[in-house]
Amino acid sequence: MAQQAQELAGKVALITGAGSGIGKAAALLFGQEGAKVAALSRTEDEVQETVSQIQQSGGEAIALVADVSQVADMQQAFQRIESQWGRLDIVFANAGINGVWAPIEELEPDEWDKTINVNLRGTFLTVKYAIPLLKRQGGSVIVTSSVNGTRIFSNTGATAYSSTKAAQVAFTKMAALELAKHRIRVNVICPGAIETAIEESTEKRDIEQAKEPVEFPEGKIPLTDGKPGKSDQVADLALFLASDRSSHITGTPVWIDGAESLLMG
Ligand code: NAP
Repeated sequence: MAQQAQELAGKVALITGAGSGIGKAAALLFGQEGAKVAALSRTEDEVQETVSQIQQSGGEAIALVADVSQVADMQQAFQRIESQWGRLDIVFANAGINGVWAPIEELEPDEWDKTINVNLRGTFLTVKYAIPLLKRQGGSVIVTSSVNGTRIFSNTGATAYSSTKAAQVAFTKMAALELAKHRIRVNVICPGAIETAIEESTEKRDIEQAKEPVEFPEGKIPLTDGKPGKSDQVADLALFLASDRSSHITGTPVWIDGAESLLMG
């Protein structure tokens, strides 16, 4: 049987949050599809592991240890991509945390700031410093938002998180219009519950008391009888948006949630 052409051959992709979950799955898939992958995350051994897996399957990758909310870290990361490969075609701004989920009255201003800094400022810095490289030949940016803040507002306590996720959709639309003249597409994906390590970046305090007492009788994800999605499924969507198969799509949110948000919204 003839081998299929790789979807991302010749392209360079930056993926943030590539040490775990959705970002790691996307890094491995983009690598398989021929992209040179800059895998960025905070924890060095995790991101090194992603890079090793790509290299073991014959791909090319570098590890970038950086905090997406820090200007100097991100500037250095882009300098490294430029010196390594001299171009950038795809940016997956995916790193994010759940942060502290608590009633608004109890949520500390520093806790609010941390979630905003990683999820929203991090998205801004990732896109901002990518533009000079992307502008040279055009490209595709994909942002990871969520069903929270876009269709679901009943995870009471997750106010900071949901605010960042709503803002990422507005950011995407603003960026899509501004960057269209440079042939840079910008889209946003809104996952429902996906099995990853994100619960480890979540601190929940006293949220039961803030919630409206509403429970569905059974199941929350209609398409799968309640089973959460997988990072690989989100990576497939990111691949579509990264590749030329989505060449006329920009400024568009795509929900990937097995209809969870239609039931809960
Ligand atoms: P995950 O398994 O916890 O992976 C998140 C990755 O982001 C980790 O590699 C983490 O590294 C990295 N990261 C966190 N803060 C960072 C920072 N400041 N700078 C650089 N890297 C950072 O979670 P995930 O579920 O794959 O989450 C990916 C994205 O999907 C997030 O934006 C999240 O909001 C979104 N999402 C997830 C779900 C879900 O159900 N899983 C649903 C909707 C949306 P460290 O651990 O080293 O910090």
